[in-house]
Amino acid sequence: MSIEQEAIGRLPAGLINEINNVRHFALKLIDEELLKRAIEIDRLVLKNSDYVDLSLIERFSKLGLYSKFIPRFLGGTGWHPLSFYFFNLEMAGACLGIANLLGPHYVAMGLLSATNSFTVLKKITNEILEAQRCGDHCTMAVAITEPNAGSDMEDDELITKADVMTIAKKVSGGYEISGQKIFISNAKFAKWYVVSAFTNKKSPADSLIMFVVRSSAKGITLGRTEKKLGQSASPASVVFFDKVFIADEDVTFSREMFKTDEDYSLYAKCLLNDLLSLSRAGVGALATGVQVQVINLVEKVKLKNDEWIIKEKSKLLSNLMTSKRVSWYAHIECFANGPYRDLLQGGPYYFFKYCPRFILKLLLSKSVQKKLRQKRLKMYQISNEKKVQGYGAHTKYLCSNLAMESIFTAQNLAGSHNPAVFFGLEKIARDAKLLQIYEGANELNQLLVAKSFLGDKDKRLEIFHENIA
Ligand SMILES: Cc1cc2nc3c(=O)[nH]c(=O)nc-3n(C[C@H](O)[C@H](O)[C@H](O)COP(=O)(O)OP(=O)(O)OC[C@H]3O[C@@H](n4cnc5c(N)ncnc54)[C@H](O)[C@@H]3O)c2cc1C
Repeated sequence: MSIEQEAIGRLPAGLINEINNVRHFALKLIDEELLKRAIEIDRLVLKNSDYVDLSLIERFSKLGLYSKFIPRFLGGTGWHPLSFYFFNLEMAGACLGIANLLGPHYVAMGLLSATNSFTVLKKITNEILEAQRCGDHCTMAVAITEPNAGSDMEDDELITKADVMTIAKKVSGGYEISGQKIFISNAKFAKWYVVSAFTNKKSPADSLIMFVVRSSAKGITLGRTEKKLGQSASPASVVFFDKVFIADEDVTFSREMFKTDEDYSLYAKCLLNDLLSLSRAGVGALATGVQVQVINLVEKVKLKNDEWIIKEKSKLLSNLMTSKRVSWYAHIECFANGPYRDLLQGGPYYFFKYCPRFILKLLLSKSVQKKLRQKRLKMYQISNEKKVQGYGAHTKYLCSNLAMESIFTAQNLAGSHNPAVFFGLEKIARDAKLLQIYEGANELNQLLVAKSFLGDKDKRLEIFHENIA
């Protein structure tokens, strides 16, 4: 029995059923609509980097894809977050750029739920549902990276010395934000941004605030769209903030929400940990899906059965098998020890699936959200929780490196005789390269594996001393 089947066997039966349905939904969508559009969108964007296929985003909206993984108590369909692993896996087999039209939206949602900001999430979900009904679209983007702070924003130690420039000033009724974010996926068409800013430029780790803002808010302007070589379907843009007013009700994380400085800074670490471990595990799933596509393409080329060729094909298979196990294992670890741990148990799983919505709505009360934050803080103090960062980082760097190795191996094997295979692999190479960069470049993730798994039981290794001393 494979590791995947073993772990699946321990999940609630309803969840296994749900995972199969999600997989089936993704495969049908890919076969009927996405495969034929992927190449065409890539071609159009390479000609004109400002091109965005809005009709595809509207199609996703019509299919309800921007609310399917949102919990039922917020008005979404309530597909389980673990089923997103399989959704990513299948979507990556079609096109990483198209998969990235959905990924950042759900990273934004994960970030909001990690701060237990259910009131804000409910407000945005209502807009998503309304847009889906009216043939429009409403999606979210996450704006963290800044011109002088990329990897430095992706670790609780490094952030202490990050050279940040998006500054929040307390004003009556909220905050005023000025600064700049870069590489923001889908900022070009997203209706809401989830943004990080700092009240003290000199001490970012102790002054983080997070908030949501409409992309059309006064003071927000879009800068250039990056001329990327890969993942063309999903544009990445610069976003400027010039004295943008954020009302207190749209602030999802700030010092004011906690009784003590210690609780506040511990929650900030927990937030980074929760968000990045799950989104990095997601990159592992994408890198695995890509490898399936690579093997399918190589199978289209007529190759001799000599020993070198069989050995190279075996390498492709072995990389895929490793990626599949590592990425699935990371998901299970991140879920079993992370913020969604309760949802893997039968009781809470069925409760959230079948409990009437009017009861679930109690979660929207401010006092419940506060209590959930306190509960999360207590859970985070368990050493197993902190290791979740290591599983996310490991699967992200290992699977994306294996994907790139497989692509180069496949290119050597397939040569240029079959144009569809040659250009197919060329596109995949451009797309998959970005998996090694976003969610923290791979060099950083490699260091984070040491940070998470070396050191004593409760304290992780401090690895950035020479950089930040
Ligand atoms: C296609 C794409 C989409 C993106 N989408 C988003 C988005 O939606 N929202 C968002 O906020 N950001 C987004 N990003 C930004 C992404 O998260 C950053 O690019 C990533 O974190 C790396 O940061 P950087 O580009 O500034 O590189 P840097 O951090 O400057 O790194 C440059 C090089 O230095 C190395 N390095 C850095 N620090 C260390 C260290 N301590 N030790 C050893 N080596 C180190 C890195 O490995 C890398 O090779 C996106 C990026 C891309 C490419």
